[in-house]
Parts: sequence; C-alpha cells; structure tokens
Amino acid sequence: MANQEDIFKKVISHAKEYGYVFQSSEIYDGLSAVYDYAQNGAELKKNIREYWWRAMVQLNKNIVGIDAAIFMHPTTWKASGHVDAFNDPMIDNKDSKKRYRADVLVEDYTAKIESKIEKEVKKAAKRFGDSFDKAQFLATNPRVVEYQKKIDAILKRLGRSLENEDLADVKALIEELEIVCPVSGSKNWTDVKQFNLMFGTKLGASADSAMDLYLRPETAQGIFVNFLNVQKTGRMKIPFGIAQTGKAFRNEIVARQFIFRMREFEQMEMQFFVKPGSQKEWYEAWKENRMKWHLSLGMGDENYRFHDHEKLAHYADAASDIEFRFPFGFKELEGIHSRTDFDLGAHEEYSGKKLQYFDHEDNESYVPYVVETSIGLDRMFLAVFSHSLKEETLENNSTRTVLKLPAVLAPTKAAVLPLVKKDGLPEIAHQIVEDLKWDFNVVYDEKDAVGRRYRRQDAVGTPFCITVDHQSLEDQTVTLRHRDTMEQQRVAIAELNGIIAKEVDMKSWLVKM
Ligand code: ATP
Repeated sequence: MANQEDIFKKVISHAKEYGYVFQSSEIYDGLSAVYDYAQNGAELKKNIREYWWRAMVQLNKNIVGIDAAIFMHPTTWKASGHVDAFNDPMIDNKDSKKRYRADVLVEDYTAKIESKIEKEVKKAAKRFGDSFDKAQFLATNPRVVEYQKKIDAILKRLGRSLENEDLADVKALIEELEIVCPVSGSKNWTDVKQFNLMFGTKLGASADSAMDLYLRPETAQGIFVNFLNVQKTGRMKIPFGIAQTGKAFRNEIVARQFIFRMREFEQMEMQFFVKPGSQKEWYEAWKENRMKWHLSLGMGDENYRFHDHEKLAHYADAASDIEFRFPFGFKELEGIHSRTDFDLGAHEEYSGKKLQYFDHEDNESYVPYVVETSIGLDRMFLAVFSHSLKEETLENNSTRTVLKLPAVLAPTKAAVLPLVKKDGLPEIAHQIVEDLKWDFNVVYDEKDAVGRRYRRQDAVGTPFCITVDHQSLEDQTVTLRHRDTMEQQRVAIAELNGIIAKEVDMKSWLVKM
C-alpha cells in the first residue's frame, strides 16, 4: 500500500500529465497556490459546475441563479465583517523565513498526539482480538486518557486565546509545546500577528481619485446585496434561494495542498432566505439535500461525513461541514451555515436601505434569515479526481491506471478508434464522431495499437471506447468497450447514441438524489 503522500503526489502528476491541471505561469516557475485548468480539467470543472447548477437552480422552482461582479463597493466588506475580522493568525520562523498559520501549527501538534492514540488502539485491538471494546479502551486506558486530556487542554487554550485576540498567548503556547519549524527545525519564532486574507486593489485611473477595492473573498455578498432586486423582479416568495458560482480570492498564508487551498478559486454558493424561526428546519433540510447530491455521484457513502461546529462564527446559529476523505484524510469540502439575519441586517445598517420582505400571508415585514450552502468547485474537483484515480492489477498481472470518473462528469464521453488506418475504417469512425458530436464530447484516435489506445483513454477517464473493425463494413456494428469493467459488447452503430446517453445524461444521475 502506497502511503498518503505518494498517492497525493500521483494525483498531482497525473493531473498534469493528462491535461487536467497545470501550475499557473509554469514557464516562469509558477505562482504559488495558483493553478490553471487544462483542456480536460476545464471540461471536468464545467461538468461539476453544471451538475451543481442543475440540482440547485433547474430542479428547484424557488431557486434562481445570478452572476454578480467580482468587484463590489468597498463598504460591502465593512458590513460583512471581512475588513475587521477575516484574519488568520500567522507566525514566521526566523531561521527558515517560512510563514505558518499559528493555529495550524498547534493543531498539527495535537494531530500528532492523536496519531499516538490511534497507534495504541491498533496495538490493543490486535492484543484483545474479537473481545476488543474500543470505546471502553479509549475511556479507561491511562496512557490514552492522558493523551486525550493533553489534546483537549491545548485546543481549549488555543480557542480561548484566539477568541480573546490574545496573540501573545498563542505564541506562548507554541513555545511551551516546543513546536519546531518543520523546515529549519528551530524554535526561533516571531510574534503572532493577524493577517487579513483579502486582496486589495484600486479602481480608477488617477492616483488621488482612485478607490480602494477588494477582490471578493466569497461570492455570498453578491447575493445579499442583490436580495431585494431579485426578490422583486422575480416575484419570489419566501422561502426562496439565490445561487451563484464564481471566483473568490484569499491571500492564504499557507497554501501547499495543490488545488485544495488556492489563492484564486471558485465557489458555488446558495443563500436560502427563510422566515425567522424556521431556520433550524431549513438548515437540517439543506444538510440532508446537499449530502444526497454528493452521494448521487456514487463515490462511496463511507467517504463523507458531517462535522458539526461547536464553536460558531459570530453570525451563525448553526454550522456544519461536509467532509470528504481526500488523499490526506477527511477534510472540509462544503459548508452549510445558518447565518441568521446577520448579513442582510448589516447591509441595511451600512447602506441605509431597507432589505426587508413583506409577507402577504402574515401581513408583516421582516429581514429574512439565511441558510447557506457553500462548496468550493476546485475542492470538489480534487475530491472527484483523487477518488477516481486507481491503479489496478489485471488478470495477466499487468497493471492499468484508470481514472474512474463518474461518467456524467467525464470530460470526453467516448473515443472512436478505427482498428487500422485503412480499408475504409477511418471513414466510418469519422462518421461516428460526426454523428455523436452533437450530443457528447467525443474524440477520434487512430495512433498506436488499439490496446495502447484503450489504456490512454482509461488514464484520461473516458467511459466508452468505440472500435471500428472490418466487420463494421459489413453489418454496421462496432465494439463498445466500458472503461470500468473493460467489458466489450457488439452493438449497432445506430444504437450508440442511446446507450451512451443512458449512462452520461445528468438526468439519470440527478434522479438518484
Ligand atoms: P477552510 O477552513 O478550509 O479555510 P473555510 O471554512 O474558510 O475553509 P468557507 O469560507 O466556508 O471555507 O468557504 C466555503 C468553501 O469554499 C469551503 O468549504 C471550500 O470548499 C472552499 N474554499 C475555501 N477556501 C478555499 C481555498 N483557499 N481554496 C479552495 N477552496 C476553498
């Protein structure tokens, strides 16, 4: 079994080799935590976005989609709290000159203690065999209890210091735990400072009249400031939602996990406006709905879990993450937040404009409450891509690398391969491409032996290969090869469209929700 780090490295190199993700400006040695989507990556990303948009906007008559600008009036970010509070605590190591998130350094330290607990559990499970009771062991084994106590105490102190903005104590904690820089190995730390994650820029031509702007760090605020415009022009009745996908920018302090944490990324967010008092119910409903969306892709129920937040942001009255099992462990993929009336209330206050809804049934006006679902498109891309990449050993002991993407998301749905480059086979193959291209992305490939061509399509994730051979000349049939099972069937050319559609149409996947 390859270790996590090796698997992740494979994911990154496969993404590059097969035209999914490139480092940005690679010829200039790249730009840290910025990536470009290549010819296949752009298609996969578009399909994920489409799968989300259809589930949200097309299938819900009370949800509409918008596309707000990245630039927003700077007061937006005062009202939302981002100017004052969108900070991460950072610390530098004076010897390596590397910058870290102070809270992450401490959390990594506790994660190490946690892995010691896991080791003890594994050892004990082996020793006790079938009679092993994990819960009892965790509660009673003196060493494990001691470890857990230590973790709890550290995290409690970290949480308290961050909440009280006591950055000196965060540094003291790092020193007391004798945390060393993973690069230099030294304990020579600077003070902890708050670092605002928003990118600033300027609007306007002349230096003195220019206006300071921010690149949006989340798409949600474009929805909030348009709440009333959409409600009125769309004659929306509460409860209703506004969805949007688009770029967001964060000057992340530490961004070393490929497209998991980028400085420029894309979000898919939906704000659902509800009557105050009903938010709990809607929060639960959206948690369930979003989990169903993930599970509909068939990437294994065991790879998802909820992580309910205990410590809530100042605007939230409930929050949960959907976590996915990435190659480096379970990590946040999507957030579902019950945001109360914080955002609309703050925009009312800062703009001086009423952002209220008149409820005809109850004959009253109110600022709606909001339940939000927020998922990173790039993170979803990484989840799908890393989960799909498999190394398989075949019956003859050879191996194949296959990207088992959910067929609905695959960039190319079929490759059409003439067995040989003569005898009229390429002509038939080209005609099949011409016929299928109106409905699906298809490619034509005639280079190398057919076995090699199959492997190439496996690695790039194409669900179907269509092989044209001499029999095709006589009876208008072809071989249809399925990527995952490698099973081959003889089908009439006229049937191809229907067979492929059945497996790749969004409808047949979304109905599983
Ligand atoms: P994290 O704790 O990982 O920094 P967050 O809690 O700040 O994430 P949110 O502000 O809730 O994230 O953003 C919603 C979603 O946007 C996240 O669940 C994630 O999928 C995505 N996201 C956030 N930051 C990034 C980033 N730097 N790169 C890629 N995706 C991101």
